[in-house]
Amino acid sequence: MRKILQYGSPILETPSKPVKNINAPEVQNIINEMLKILKVEADRSAGLSAPQIGELLNIAICRRTDLENDDLNTKPSLIEWEVMINPKILSKSKEKSINWEGCLSVNDGDLFGRVERPQEIEVEYIDIAGKPKKLGASGFFSHVVQHEVDHLKGILFLKYIPDPTELYTSDELE
Ligand SMILES: [Zn+2]
Repeated sequence: MRKILQYGSPILETPSKPVKNINAPEVQNIINEMLKILKVEADRSAGLSAPQIGELLNIAICRRTDLENDDLNTKPSLIEWEVMINPKILSKSKEKSINWEGCLSVNDGDLFGRVERPQEIEVEYIDIAGKPKKLGASGFFSHVVQHEVDHLKGILFLKYIPDPTELYTSDELE
């Protein structure tokens, strides 16, 4: 399985490029690798972007937490992963929401902080079947989508938490 790049890697702070041919074997291969990682990391992960495995392509996979009602305790086999190719956020609400975020590329997923983001967004993308799709996201799911789309711009959630004392490991949070 591919390694997840960690904070400090310049790739994580480099903008990705649009996917031109969704059916290209390299692209399908990257998506499959990402899904494989997410299945293993399902109990502590809400998404993954291609740059995190070293591929500067606009591919993000977001966990459909909006379809779950079990606070991230949903059985891995029941989790739905939304593959978003060339995602673009079309609109953002003025209202904000604050949620805890972490990232598999920051301290191996064990560093969390409160991030404020627009509460509701609309995103358009090409799905895994190659079809254009539009989706509204709110609350925590909206954070998931914005976090992953940020990765494609070379932005980490740490950017929104300027004070490092506002970051906590899971031990510290308990
Ligand atoms: Zn992340």
